[in-house]
Amino acid sequence: MEVLGIVVIASVLIVGYRAWNKRRAYQGYLAKREDLEGHSPKEPWTILQHKDMEIYVKRERCHCGGKVYSRAEYPLEDYPHVRVLVCECVRCEEVIRLYFQREYLQ
Ligand SMILES: [Zn+2]
Repeated sequence: MEVLGIVVIASVLIVGYRAWNKRRAYQGYLAKREDLEGHSPKEPWTILQHKDMEIYVKRERCHCGGKVYSRAEYPLEDYPHVRVLVCECVRCEEVIRLYFQREYLQ
Protein backbone atom coordinates (compact mmCIF):
# COMPACT_ATOMS: atom_id res chain seq x y z
CA MET A 1 0.00 0.00 0.00
CA GLU A 2 2.83 2.36 0.86
CA VAL A 3 4.57 1.63 -2.44
CA LEU A 4 1.38 2.43 -4.34
CA GLY A 5 1.15 5.78 -2.53
CA ILE A 6 4.74 6.63 -3.46
CA VAL A 7 4.10 5.67 -7.10
CA VAL A 8 0.98 7.88 -7.23
CA ILE A 9 2.79 10.85 -5.67
CA ALA A 10 5.77 10.40 -8.01
CA SER A 11 3.42 10.24 -11.03
CA VAL A 12 1.64 13.44 -9.99
CA LEU A 13 4.98 15.20 -9.49
CA ILE A 14 6.27 14.07 -12.91
CA VAL A 15 3.09 15.17 -14.70
CA GLY A 16 3.13 18.49 -12.83
CA TYR A 17 6.78 19.09 -13.65
CA ARG A 18 6.22 18.33 -17.35
CA ALA A 19 3.24 20.72 -17.50
CA TRP A 20 5.22 23.45 -15.70
CA ASN A 21 8.22 22.94 -18.01
CA LYS A 22 6.03 23.03 -21.12
CA ARG A 23 4.37 26.25 -19.96
CA ARG A 24 7.75 27.84 -19.19
CA ALA A 25 9.07 26.93 -22.66
CA TYR A 26 5.93 28.36 -24.26
CA GLN A 27 6.27 31.65 -22.36
CA GLY A 28 9.91 31.86 -23.39
CA TYR A 29 8.86 31.32 -26.99
CA LEU A 30 6.25 34.11 -26.74
CA ALA A 31 8.79 36.53 -25.27
CA LYS A 32 11.30 35.74 -28.04
CA ARG A 33 8.66 36.00 -30.76
CA GLU A 34 7.92 39.61 -29.77
CA ASP A 35 11.55 40.51 -30.53
CA LEU A 36 11.57 38.90 -33.96
CA GLU A 37 11.22 41.07 -37.04
CA GLY A 38 7.65 41.07 -38.34
CA HIS A 39 6.13 40.10 -35.02
CA SER A 40 5.52 43.54 -33.55
CA PRO A 41 4.23 46.83 -35.01
CA LYS A 42 7.52 48.49 -34.05
CA GLU A 43 9.54 46.18 -36.27
CA PRO A 44 7.40 45.12 -39.23
CA TRP A 45 8.64 43.41 -42.37
CA THR A 46 8.96 45.82 -45.28
CA ILE A 47 7.19 44.55 -48.36
CA LEU A 48 7.32 45.90 -51.89
CA GLN A 49 4.49 43.82 -53.32
CA HIS A 50 1.29 42.52 -51.77
CA LYS A 51 2.24 38.92 -52.61
CA ASP A 52 5.39 39.24 -50.45
CA MET A 53 3.12 38.80 -47.44
CA GLU A 54 2.32 35.25 -48.63
CA ILE A 55 6.03 34.40 -48.68
CA TYR A 56 6.39 35.41 -45.03
CA VAL A 57 3.25 33.49 -44.07
CA LYS A 58 4.59 30.33 -45.77
CA ARG A 59 7.91 30.67 -43.91
CA GLU A 60 6.27 31.25 -40.52
CA ARG A 61 6.05 28.33 -38.09
CA CYS A 62 4.14 28.01 -34.85
CA HIS A 63 5.86 26.98 -31.61
CA CYS A 64 4.44 23.47 -32.17
CA GLY A 65 6.11 23.33 -35.60
CA GLY A 66 2.86 23.68 -37.51
CA LYS A 67 2.39 25.81 -40.59
CA VAL A 68 0.21 28.90 -40.36
CA TYR A 69 -2.39 30.30 -42.71
CA SER A 70 -3.71 33.85 -42.88
CA ARG A 71 -7.19 34.39 -41.50
CA ALA A 72 -7.67 38.16 -41.50
CA GLU A 73 -5.94 41.41 -42.31
CA TYR A 74 -6.44 44.86 -40.83
CA PRO A 75 -4.67 48.24 -40.57
CA LEU A 76 -3.24 49.65 -37.33
CA GLU A 77 -4.45 53.07 -36.22
CA ASP A 78 -1.25 54.01 -34.39
CA TYR A 79 0.95 52.86 -37.28
CA PRO A 80 -0.72 54.03 -40.52
CA HIS A 81 1.63 52.16 -42.89
CA VAL A 82 1.53 48.90 -40.99
CA ARG A 83 -0.87 46.06 -41.84
CA VAL A 84 -1.53 43.20 -39.48
CA LEU A 85 -2.04 39.72 -40.81
CA VAL A 86 -3.79 37.47 -38.32
CA CYS A 87 -2.60 33.90 -38.89
CA GLU A 88 -3.58 30.63 -37.29
CA CYS A 89 -1.65 27.41 -36.82
CA VAL A 90 -3.10 24.41 -38.67
CA ARG A 91 -2.15 22.07 -35.81
CA CYS A 92 -2.89 23.84 -32.51
CA GLU A 93 -4.92 26.88 -33.66
CA GLU A 94 -2.45 29.29 -32.03
CA VAL A 95 -3.07 32.83 -33.31
CA ILE A 96 0.03 34.59 -34.63
CA ARG A 97 0.01 38.21 -35.76
CA LEU A 98 2.45 39.26 -38.47
CA TYR A 99 3.18 42.95 -39.15
CA PHE A 100 4.01 44.43 -42.54
CA GLN A 101 5.28 47.85 -43.52
CA ARG A 102 3.42 48.84 -46.69
CA GLU A 103 4.85 52.29 -47.16
CA TYR A 104 6.95 51.20 -50.15
CA LEU A 105 4.31 49.03 -51.75
CA GLN A 106 4.48 49.27 -55.56
ZN1 LIG B 1 0.78 25.34 -33.45
